[in-house]
Amino acid sequence: MRATDAGAGWGEVRNPADTSEVVGAYPLLGAGDVDAAVEAAGKAQTEWAARPAVERAAVLAEAADRIAALDGLDELLIREQGKVAWEAGFEVGFFEALSSYYAAMAPALDEGELVVDDGLGQLRVFLEPVGIVGAITPWNWPFALTAVKVVPALLAGNAVIVKPASNTPLTVMRALGAITDLFPSGLLSVVTGTGSTVGRRLVDHPLVRKVSLTGSTETGREAAAAAGRTVKNLTLELGGNDAALILEDAVIDEGLCGNLVSGAFTTTGQLCFGIKRVYAPRAVAEELAEGLSAILDQYTVGNGLHPGVSMGPLNNRAQRDFVAELIDDAQARGGAVRRCGEMAGDPERGWFLSPAVVTGLDDSARLVAEEQFGPALPVLAYDSLDEAIDRVNASEFGLASSIWTADEDRGAGLARRIAAGTTFVNNHGLFAVDLNGPFGGVKQSGVGRELALPGLAAYTESHTVSTRHL
Ligand code: NAD
Repeated sequence: MRATDAGAGWGEVRNPADTSEVVGAYPLLGAGDVDAAVEAAGKAQTEWAARPAVERAAVLAEAADRIAALDGLDELLIREQGKVAWEAGFEVGFFEALSSYYAAMAPALDEGELVVDDGLGQLRVFLEPVGIVGAITPWNWPFALTAVKVVPALLAGNAVIVKPASNTPLTVMRALGAITDLFPSGLLSVVTGTGSTVGRRLVDHPLVRKVSLTGSTETGREAAAAAGRTVKNLTLELGGNDAALILEDAVIDEGLCGNLVSGAFTTTGQLCFGIKRVYAPRAVAEELAEGLSAILDQYTVGNGLHPGVSMGPLNNRAQRDFVAELIDDAQARGGAVRRCGEMAGDPERGWFLSPAVVTGLDDSARLVAEEQFGPALPVLAYDSLDEAIDRVNASEFGLASSIWTADEDRGAGLARRIAAGTTFVNNHGLFAVDLNGPFGGVKQSGVGRELALPGLAAYTESHTVSTRHL
């Protein structure tokens, strides 16, 4: 798309593992470009929505095949985001996983749900598309978090305008650029540029009927206020401060420590539903911190394209500096900071930080109270279960959470006392994701759900068609 007004020019994406490398560039679009994308989307959407959902699902399957066949998409994602190789492969595969999962729901979109059929007539409910969707995404999982919006929104019959984060627009531009010709012209487009110009216009535009935004709570607040002015349908997937609660019956062994490390340090700690704080019985808190450190000592921090690297850099300077500041603050408060692993990256060239495990803090420390979104994990001691649950819940956030126990039934029962959108038992993080589970936050972690049926219904308005005469 050609830039037409404010902010016109190009933005540059640099490799967070080696900031001397320019990975690519993207157009810095203006509000007028968003308006043009909305106009094109409107025409295309009417045509797309007129097709049966099963036909739309077939087009999405073809799109998934095309994306899977693209050469070098994983590598581009590693170079713009900073993630490691296995994770980039997982992320790129998410479009295909979602399109197969949601395809099974297409017949129900076409048929609607017959809710009542009696002597008074029939009442049927259809899930109709909302129209034009603005999908605004962050830099930590740029492609997967786009796919989780684009796939169900298109299947439901909408047009989608994607606004990727400026640090990571390239994988999204390349992958979606490879499939747009499968859809009516203008149905799926990408608008790049700043959040304050392009993102804001998408949220403000009266013809955009739905905004689905994944990002920080601060941005979510602003978007919610702006979307209110045109009474938009809204999904907000925002920040989190996920707690892992270790019960007294959990065995502190390598398996448990390995799962906690993976739950906390995937994407260098920049995973919205990664473990951000661990609560352990006082008697085992130090032993647990030692176990976590022992696993992390086997980590190699470096460029995700280099063999043997288990953790990449932070995505950007601001995030690296923020996490470093929280670690310094923890140290200044008397916390014990264990820095782990081998540093193979050059911290002068990339935004590297060693993974850290921190003990000896109370919940007022910034590393505990704030969303660190980085590779530093506090392990906190508790004396009674009720106290621990109160501390887990004493947060403005409520995205995911976990309970670790030898008795999973007990864990599942206790889960109901945790204020969060998801509570995993003996699991947490990327490998706990299940497309069948509605995902999203309570409190200031967001509004609405992605994945499962609610993740499709989020892009629809229910339409009641009744022949009943009461
Ligand atoms: P961010 O809020 O800075 O940016 C997110 C997106 O919003 C970007 O595309 C940005 O350009 C755009 N934006 C910024 N201001 C805007 C405005 N006024 N109007 C419209 N759009 C605007 O977030 P980030 O720093 O890219 O991502 C990190 C945050 O995202 C963390 O807080 C993390 O927890 C959160 N996150 C949440 C989830 C989830 O599912 N809940 C998933 C991933 C990340």
